Amino acid sequence: MGEFDLIRQYFQPLAGSAMTDQLVLGPGDDCAIQRIPAGRDLVFSVDTLVEGVHFPLNYSSRYLGWRALAVAASDLAAMGAKPVCFTLALTLPEANPDWLSGFAESLSKASSAFGMALAGGDTTRGALTISIQVHGTVAEGAAIQRSGARPGDLICVTGPLGAAGAALAFLEDPKPGPLARAMLVRYHSPEPRLELGQQLVGKASAAIDISDGLLADLQHILEASSVGAELQAGTIPMMPELVQLHGDQSLNLALTAGDDYELCVTIAPEVLKRLAPDIQAQLAVVGQVVKTPGLSLIGADLTDMPPGFDHFGRLV
Ligand code: ADP
Ligand code: MG
Repeated sequence: MGEFDLIRQYFQPLAGSAMTDQLVLGPGDDCAIQRIPAGRDLVFSVDTLVEGVHFPLNYSSRYLGWRALAVAASDLAAMGAKPVCFTLALTLPEANPDWLSGFAESLSKASSAFGMALAGGDTTRGALTISIQVHGTVAEGAAIQRSGARPGDLICVTGPLGAAGAALAFLEDPKPGPLARAMLVRYHSPEPRLELGQQLVGKASAAIDISDGLLADLQHILEASSVGAELQAGTIPMMPELVQLHGDQSLNLALTAGDDYELCVTIAPEVLKRLAPDIQAQLAVVGQVVKTPGLSLIGADLTDMPPGFDHFGRLV
C-alpha cells in the first residue's frame, strides 16, 4: 500500500466527519487552512508518543488512537480552549492493515467525541511514533495560564487520581480481574476535561493538566505563579478500586503517578461558590494556595513515600 492510498483509506474519512466552519481546508493540499473568528485567540500544542517510551511495545492500536488525541487535547482543556482540529504526523515501521484500521477507528472515535477534525498530517516510515498537533480557540486574552494562582485560591482537581498509574502493572496481563480492569480503563481511555476547561475560563486563576502526577504538575503552577501550596492528603479523590488494590500506597500513586489527564485548577473561594452546582460538583477541593513558596502535604504519613519525593519541596 502506497503512502497516499494509506492516507486516503484510513485518515481522509476523519477529516469529513468532523469538518467545522473554522476548518476551511482539510487534508489534500500543501497546508490546511483554519479561519480564526474575530475576537478569538488560536491556542495550539503538539505532543509526541514514542513506542516503548510513552506506551508499551505491542500496545493495541485500538486504544492508541484515542489515547494519542486525548493526551494532546488535554492541553487545550487546561487552557480553557475550544477544540477545533488537529494534524497527525505518523511514523510507522510498516503499513499493517490490522494495525491501521484499529488505530484509525480509535482515533475517529476520539475525533468525534472531542469535536476535532483531522486537518492534515505527515506519514513516514520508521520506529512507531505519533505526533499530534491540536488547535483550539479561546476568547481573546482569556486563556487560563499557569501563572495566575494567588494566595488564598483553592486548589481543585477534576477527578480521581492514581488509577492510570496503577494500570501500568496490568498492561501485559492477559486476564485482568475487575479491579485491574477499572484501572486499565483510566489508562486506555483518558477523558480530557474539554467542556469543564471552557466553563472555567474567566473563573479559574490557573490550570494545568495532570500528566506527570499531581505534585509534579501543581509544582509548575506554583513556580509560574511564584506562590506555594498546602495540600490536604485526606481530600485527594481516589477510585475505591485503587484503594482496594493498593491500600496505604494508594495516596502515593494519586500524588505521584501520571497519565490521569485530569485538570488541577486554582480558583478564588468566592468564585468557586458562585459556579453552577453541576460545575462545582466536578471540582474536588484538595488544598489552598499560600504565599510562602514550597509545597506541603498535610495529614499524610510520608515515611512510605517513594525516594526523591522531597524533590517537590517542603513536605510536612
Ligand atoms: P507535502 O509533501 O506537500 O508536505 P504530503 O505528501 O506530506 O504533502 O501530504 C499530502 C497531503 O496528505 C497533505 O495535505 C497532508 O496534510 C495529508 N496527510 C499526510 N499524512 C497524513 C496523515 N497521517 N493524516 C492526515 N493527513 C495526512
Ligand atoms: Mg507540499
